[in-house]
Amino acid sequence: MADYFSELGFRPLGEGEVPDHGAHLLRLLRDSGNYDLLEMFVRLRNDDGGNSAPAASEKVVQELPLVQPLPKEQCSVCLKNYDEDDPCRMMPCKHKFHQNCIFTWLKQTNSCPICRKELPTDDPDYEAIKKHKEREDERKQQLESLHNSMFS
Ligand SMILES: [Zn+2]
Ligand SMILES: [Zn+2]
Repeated sequence: MADYFSELGFRPLGEGEVPDHGAHLLRLLRDSGNYDLLEMFVRLRNDDGGNSAPAASEKVVQELPLVQPLPKEQCSVCLKNYDEDDPCRMMPCKHKFHQNCIFTWLKQTNSCPICRKELPTDDPDYEAIKKHKEREDERKQQLESLHNSMFS
């Protein structure tokens, strides 16, 4: 581990220095493509009882479309039926919730309470990791389909 850090340009802390858990380290990891380590640090930083996802992007949340709920339907966050004039918002996955319920929820985490589909966040580290994983998945799928086309 020590070599890893010195490779990245780290030096031991001097007397009275406080470790910088912030942007510097994460940016280095991001720039150098150390996604596994980056993910670990982001997880540590965001650690609040096992939930490693940051809040959803404020802008994206504000732009969720307002919808008219059916009175028979139930909000999955507060488990109450909708009143006709309750302001409700719809997620991109088409799940609906009380505006207050989903806004509060999305300040804690970026995914739908029902199906876990994620919204974008304002966290560049989290987004970098997510993109990296999507690329890996894509590559895996390409390999699989290549494999299938060769062997079936
Ligand atoms: Zn609710
Ligand atoms: Zn959903």
